[in-house]
Amino acid sequence: MQTVSKEQFVYSFSKDNSHALKVPSGSTIVMETWDCFRNQIQSEQTTVSSIDWEQINPATGPIYVEGAKPGDLLKVHIDAIELGEQGLMAAGPGLGVMGHRLDAMQFKLIPIKDGKAIFNDKLHLPLNPMIGVIGVAPEDEAVPCGTPGPHGGNMDTKLITTGATLYLPVFQEGALFGLGDVHAAMGDGEIGVTGIEIPAKVTVTLEVLSGQSIPYPFLENGEGISSIVSKETLDEAAKSAVEIMIDALLPHMDMSLPELVMLCSAAGQSQISQIVDPLMTARFFMPWSVLDVYGVNLFKPANI
Ligand code: CA
Ligand code: ZN
Repeated sequence: MQTVSKEQFVYSFSKDNSHALKVPSGSTIVMETWDCFRNQIQSEQTTVSSIDWEQINPATGPIYVEGAKPGDLLKVHIDAIELGEQGLMAAGPGLGVMGHRLDAMQFKLIPIKDGKAIFNDKLHLPLNPMIGVIGVAPEDEAVPCGTPGPHGGNMDTKLITTGATLYLPVFQEGALFGLGDVHAAMGDGEIGVTGIEIPAKVTVTLEVLSGQSIPYPFLENGEGISSIVSKETLDEAAKSAVEIMIDALLPHMDMSLPELVMLCSAAGQSQISQIVDPLMTARFFMPWSVLDVYGVNLFKPANI
């Protein structure tokens, strides 16, 4: 299996990035990732001034997927996430929802042992390994890896985990796929601006689907389908996620728009991904228990 080393990384998703690797559609690749501080913080005594704040949110890659063209979809199956041995959190002035109440930057190292995150002696938190930054080159100018958008990027969505399939709109030839910013655990909202940040090894399978396009990323898992939308406000993101889901479902459901609105209102869930990045990310979820009744399969392979 091909591996992309963590030494091959970018700080922005851009059509101008030269690719680290070129693969045929259907390839499975291992991608080594730095943590979101590019592993600069190895001690709780690290001072803010010793950190290079330009070196934040590296994404490993990009990978050029042969055959991917603007208007296609890139199907990304998350096969595995292997976490490093130690995670890191930060809290400080100006960071996250509570930054206005914090005086000084503080770091906390969090060892990962026996499948738990050792927050302190008393508290061993369950892991939910997930990928914070994952995306493709955007349509226009470069987007820093810290910002989410239609191309994916820093969506900080806890559903982006082992077993899930993410669908990304393709804007550039080859898609130029990258990922990084893995978290050993993170709650919806990511309120403090860090999850349990950790280096990792992520295995993904990349496949090009042509003949259908989507305006924002979608995710499928064992429970159902989610649209994932990032906008300036959470209100806009949440409402847009609903509309994008309804637009995607309407051609596949034998029902009128008012009926589908009622169904989504009864059985769909508006959910928050993160409220701390340069754009806010929300999602709208519809369960298979509803969609399967109509045989909904939004993302068919190109040859079917
Ligand atoms: Ca992040
Ligand atoms: Zn992160």
